[in-house]
Amino acid sequence: MTVRKLAMTGEIQKGAKIHDLVKAPANTPWAIEKQQSWDGNLPATVYYTPEMTSDGKPCTAATVILRTKGCHWWWSSGCTFCGYFNDTRDDVTNENLHAQWEHAKKKLNNFEGMDMVKVYTSGSLLEDREIPVEFQQTVLSECHELGKELIVESRCEQLTEEKLQWATSINPKFTVAIGLEAYDDEVLKFHVNKGFTTKSFDRAVKNLQKFDIRVKTYLMFKPPFMSEADALDHIVEWISAVAESSDEISVNPMNIQRGTIIDRLHNDRQYRPPWLWSLVEMIHKAHDIIHPDGGTNGDEDQVSRLIVHPTAGGKIRGSHNCGSCDSEVVAAIERYAVSGDLLEFEGIDCSCKQTWREEISLERCLPTPLGISLPRRGDRAKVLRSA
Ligand code: SF4
Ligand SMILES: [Zn+2]
Repeated sequence: MTVRKLAMTGEIQKGAKIHDLVKAPANTPWAIEKQQSWDGNLPATVYYTPEMTSDGKPCTAATVILRTKGCHWWWSSGCTFCGYFNDTRDDVTNENLHAQWEHAKKKLNNFEGMDMVKVYTSGSLLEDREIPVEFQQTVLSECHELGKELIVESRCEQLTEEKLQWATSINPKFTVAIGLEAYDDEVLKFHVNKGFTTKSFDRAVKNLQKFDIRVKTYLMFKPPFMSEADALDHIVEWISAVAESSDEISVNPMNIQRGTIIDRLHNDRQYRPPWLWSLVEMIHKAHDIIHPDGGTNGDEDQVSRLIVHPTAGGKIRGSHNCGSCDSEVVAAIERYAVSGDLLEFEGIDCSCKQTWREEISLERCLPTPLGISLPRRGDRAKVLRSA
């Protein structure tokens, strides 16, 4: 099948519908073959990482990523950057999910020595169309019985009073992570194709608070069709808008997943993943919102916890700089997520910072809504000739 070229101007007569652009790659032979290759009885991934408990104590957290049918919003439309369709299988059953769960527990010795369990489903755990209720119940009750802090992900529309009443009757205290991406209806609609509004987010948060469920909000740094400078300005506003109502804010800098709209924009040189320097700048600007009295994590003034994990940080498909300073900057960003201390960035510098600064200032004064970001690696002269 032909995948229509994703041109911004001029080349096509009629504007392509965002829905068709999102869906096209999921129906290609390579995507279908990949889906069919997964074993429904095995989870996608199981691993553990250092984390912080809800009271700010260092701990070990298990992450269980289940192989599921995926997200119901994806079935009917889908977000512009979401590559989860690569990891799902549309015939996964309740039995399969229970087998995956048993496998994960066995692999991690029944979560021995781990205070926290994150259960991710490439969609919403509490959505009955995606996950059989019996399995939702298993996860909620077993994590409660084992005394583990549970984190699940969900869109907003599942978080009704009725559903949360039911869930908290099984597990009275857990965390729901919502992929809000942007606290801006225009960005949600035209850049992300999220399928819900800030109003539904506000409603969901109100319901979660009513049942004393912790709220973790994911925001996206640099959605498609946005310049680096705009992304930087917007993200600080969004952090400010959700800080009071979120126990944690996790900023996900865009990383390019195969077969998505953002992948095609990237291939067509119409999008570059964020600079790591932009993330450092964002953290400096957001620090005053998170710690109004200049404190660090755990201090009295902490409004929320700000976490930044640059997935694929330092790689071309993730946030990156020039190549020589990347690992140092990524490590400092990761350290900040734990300490909340701006001193983590003291003394970190590189000559590419000047290029970043110039790009941002040019984007602020030129009418280039998609930005001017050039490739940051390799020979400068060749890059300029091919851009
Ligand atoms: S809501 Fe989440 S899982 Fe569903 S399409 Fe969007 S990003 Fe993907
Ligand atoms: Zn550099």
